[in-house]
Amino acid sequence: MFTLLKKIKEEESFIPHQKIEELLEKTRNPENKKVEIIVNKALQKERLSPEETAVLLNADKPEQVDLIVNAARRLKEEIYGNRIVLFAPLYIGNWCVNNCQYCGFRTENTAVVRKTLSDEELEAELYALTSKGHKRLIVVFGEHPMYSPKFIARTIERIYSYKNGTGQIRRVNVNAAPQTVEGYKIIKEVGIGTFQIFQETYHLPTYKKLHPSGPKSSYVYRLFGLDRAMVAGIDDVGIGALFGLYDWKFEVMGLMYHTKHLEERFGVGPHTISFPRVEPAFNTPLAETPPHPVSDEAFKRVIAIIRLSVPYTGLILTARERPEVRREGLKLGVSQIDAGSSIGVGSYSQQDPEIVKKSQFILGDTRSLDEVIKELSQNGHIPSFCTACYRAGRTGQHFMEFAIPGFVREFCTPNAILTFKEYLLDYASEETKKIGEELIKNELDRMPPERKKILEKLLVRLETGERDVRL
Ligand code: SAM
Ligand code: SF4
Repeated sequence: MFTLLKKIKEEESFIPHQKIEELLEKTRNPENKKVEIIVNKALQKERLSPEETAVLLNADKPEQVDLIVNAARRLKEEIYGNRIVLFAPLYIGNWCVNNCQYCGFRTENTAVVRKTLSDEELEAELYALTSKGHKRLIVVFGEHPMYSPKFIARTIERIYSYKNGTGQIRRVNVNAAPQTVEGYKIIKEVGIGTFQIFQETYHLPTYKKLHPSGPKSSYVYRLFGLDRAMVAGIDDVGIGALFGLYDWKFEVMGLMYHTKHLEERFGVGPHTISFPRVEPAFNTPLAETPPHPVSDEAFKRVIAIIRLSVPYTGLILTARERPEVRREGLKLGVSQIDAGSSIGVGSYSQQDPEIVKKSQFILGDTRSLDEVIKELSQNGHIPSFCTACYRAGRTGQHFMEFAIPGFVREFCTPNAILTFKEYLLDYASEETKKIGEELIKNELDRMPPERKKILEKLLVRLETGERDVRL
């Protein structure tokens, strides 16, 4: 498999550069009627074709943008309801042999302080995270021979076996370098959630320029990174592009073609799509002035168009973004956010004056988990730490939650409420608790009596001390 993939030439990848450029050219200045037809198709929860996505990307007139944004809001409410999944990033090590021009960890950045968490430091980080109530992590690694599949697997094992009273991490996702099929198998063994790889830019000439050396300089090896994960049996994968490196319209098309490729080859698309924007990073000039900056207004359109184009894929918006951008993103279709995040190596547990020098970039939202949860509840979102599907072996078929009628209502919403209740009992501030209990009460009142009764019984089990109660 690996050698076969290596033989694929970069120009033969599944990102058809010329076709994308033609589609973006051909669909310029679309008529309102055309945009309306496509938006209505999306509202029927149908997948859009690349050409239809290109039309939405070119719908620049204010009334067309309004139409798209409002449709994304509606679709988000209809499909996902009001749950928002919460997680935290945990940086394990920042040694890196690559030279990504936008990243503070790039090998040529000698000003950065290199570090890998020791076992004791990992425990201290887990103590800090579980003491705040976190249950879901994404572990992040630079690319270095030290971070072998065995090392990654061992780190994940240690995380799962860690206990802090009733606090524990129940799902570990991974953002690390692309692996060989054999490497992925070793990582899969320990039970990971999603394996994430961002292509950064789908535009080959830009990719080449920004990744001048190291294994990451191969566009194709990275592009097929998640194919190899799926061949190895990891069926929850996350794709992403780093916005600001090239034209945002091209990048959205790249994400769509990547999704299409995975669906066609494996019968299941990515579990999540991420669309980080380049943030300032320590001693990293390119990150201060990205070559194709994406304004907040354009970014809003990116989220809405992805939501409409792939209605059943989870969308992640990280704390790279400022609170006001995150608020807007949640309305437009984002389903997962991190909160209370700290991205220095060791920075959850240590007050380190060198922390900026150990961080990859600078965060836009530095609010605590409790503050974010309070705001989510005030705005009627149910904060969720749910890991039920993954732990019941229901992976890879995340669209099942949408494909099976009533699945969200019967499983996802009640499980979100149960994990939220657990948070309120064990970790919340008094104020958050009050607002949260009110939210749960309102949710229960909206349920049919049968379902309400089942859930009330489960909530009593939590109140009397049981934990990890789920459907
Ligand atoms: N080293 C692995 C890799 O590059 O795939 C995984 C970890 S890397 C630290 C995670 C992601 O951070 C990258 O894929 C990139 O998209 C993102 N990133 C790097 N520099 C960034 C910056 N200045 N602003 C925002 N995101 C950045
Ligand atoms: Fe290394 Fe990843 Fe940063 Fe590139 S993005 S320099 S591979 S840590």
